[in-house]
Amino acid sequence: MSKYIFVTGGVVSGLGKGIVAASLGRLLKSAGYSVYIEKFDPYMNIDPGTLNPTQHGEVFVTQDGAETDLDLGHYERFINENLTRSSSLTSGKLYQSVLNKERNGDYQGKTVQIIPHVTNEIKDHILATAKESGADILITEIGGTVGDIESQPYLEALRQFSLDVGRENCAFVHVCLLLYMSCSDEFKSKPVQHSVRELQRFGIFPDVVVTRSDKQPPEEIIKKISLFCSVDEHAVVPSTTVKCLYDAPAMLYRNGLYKAISKALSLKNKCDLTEWKKKVATLKIKTPKVRIGIVGKYVSLRDSYISLVEAIKHAGGANLTAVDLKWIDSETVTEANVANKLKDVDGIIIPGGFGERGVEGMIVACKYARMHALPYLGICLGMQVTVIEYARDVLGFKDATSGEFAHTEHTVIDIMPDKKGKKLGGTMRLGSYPCAVKDGTKIKEAYGSNLIEERHRHRYEFNNEYREALENGGLVISGTSPDGHIVETVEVKDHPFFVGVQFHPEFTSRPENANPIFAAFVKAALENVKH
Ligand code: GLN
Repeated sequence: MSKYIFVTGGVVSGLGKGIVAASLGRLLKSAGYSVYIEKFDPYMNIDPGTLNPTQHGEVFVTQDGAETDLDLGHYERFINENLTRSSSLTSGKLYQSVLNKERNGDYQGKTVQIIPHVTNEIKDHILATAKESGADILITEIGGTVGDIESQPYLEALRQFSLDVGRENCAFVHVCLLLYMSCSDEFKSKPVQHSVRELQRFGIFPDVVVTRSDKQPPEEIIKKISLFCSVDEHAVVPSTTVKCLYDAPAMLYRNGLYKAISKALSLKNKCDLTEWKKKVATLKIKTPKVRIGIVGKYVSLRDSYISLVEAIKHAGGANLTAVDLKWIDSETVTEANVANKLKDVDGIIIPGGFGERGVEGMIVACKYARMHALPYLGICLGMQVTVIEYARDVLGFKDATSGEFAHTEHTVIDIMPDKKGKKLGGTMRLGSYPCAVKDGTKIKEAYGSNLIEERHRHRYEFNNEYREALENGGLVISGTSPDGHIVETVEVKDHPFFVGVQFHPEFTSRPENANPIFAAFVKAALENVKH
């Protein structure tokens, strides 16, 4: 039988509740339990796929092709497991399912209501995920903060759920901001008290209160929170700011999170973080240092590149090198300034993106890397840019472009035939697909295999009409779909490292296993360090 942990948030959003949930997963895994994590997002979008990056940050893609909240990326990286679409539930999806059932007549003429129909749907989802995953412990994070109108049905469902499966099989963890006033140098526990009271109003009495603050709070504040919130003193767990994200599990362990959770759920195993800490140590190496330029269009929105940045860090760890990032807004890159902008980097990455803005600057940077033996990795849009640049400069197709931006005589990247004329939401090529890799290529060297699998999220692809011309012109098509039809990766010869991949390798990178293509790219950049 499964045990359940529910993670709620209070006082403000953006507290790193996802990191607490992911860290909890790591602690439990390091204690030998199998763990699964899911996130409930109370907004009405079906998924974050159509949300602007300014609104939502990165869209994380699971192997089975769900477009999900970026917290799922943290979960996968911390627990080193592949999650699925059932790990992500939004109110949009929830209500869609209830309304479909209503139209189907499944409710047999009953009045459809939040309680019990929506709450039952939530409870069924939790049970189904627990069953499907077969995990010892299922962690469920509820997005937003307690007190939001949207999250009320979820809290009611959780309260009922704990009655259904037995309160002893459930632990409620409430993560909230512990206010610190720098002027008087004191912590204020009142907002925490109010937030816990709000949760208690729903009949949920948390087993653990995680207080988020930069610094460690004094003992008397912990005592006060314990007293006023009716939680054991040992179950008030400070979560303080860590330099490296992956230090969070060890910090929370030190502050008593595992002890409090094992008490709440009567867990017997000891947690041993030795292996995890060893891996994390490689991510904190200070020298040698390699500098990677990221030439992208959302560089002012770092949240859009979370998995990318983490994958680069993991690759640094795999090469025992520190990685320094230089963010370059592709909109500002021109033929005139590119040499100057790239003079202090040892390699560049052009990441994924949507829309035309900033693409010309990416093409300029790509050409510079190709001509100057600068290690280069183009990801998704970055791979499409690689093909456009090659067609323009080497083949002389000056008007080469992608169907996403214009239609010219040389639309070398075009919409996938089966995606033509479809709606925007959920119509991309999403999730894991196999890729057959040719011998004697960088991709083969990196992965050491002729068949790899990576995750995708794109609507446009290499246009096969130009395949012969590009190959004759020297572009190496190093990876395709196993039937040879879809071009997945391109490279050029006689270059230390120049690779474009249609997939998003960053989604499968973990601190415990760096993604091979990132590791190979950082290795090439390290060999290129000029000092
Ligand atoms: N906009 C491009 C496409 O839809 C690339 C997508 C991406 O980089 N994720 O194909």
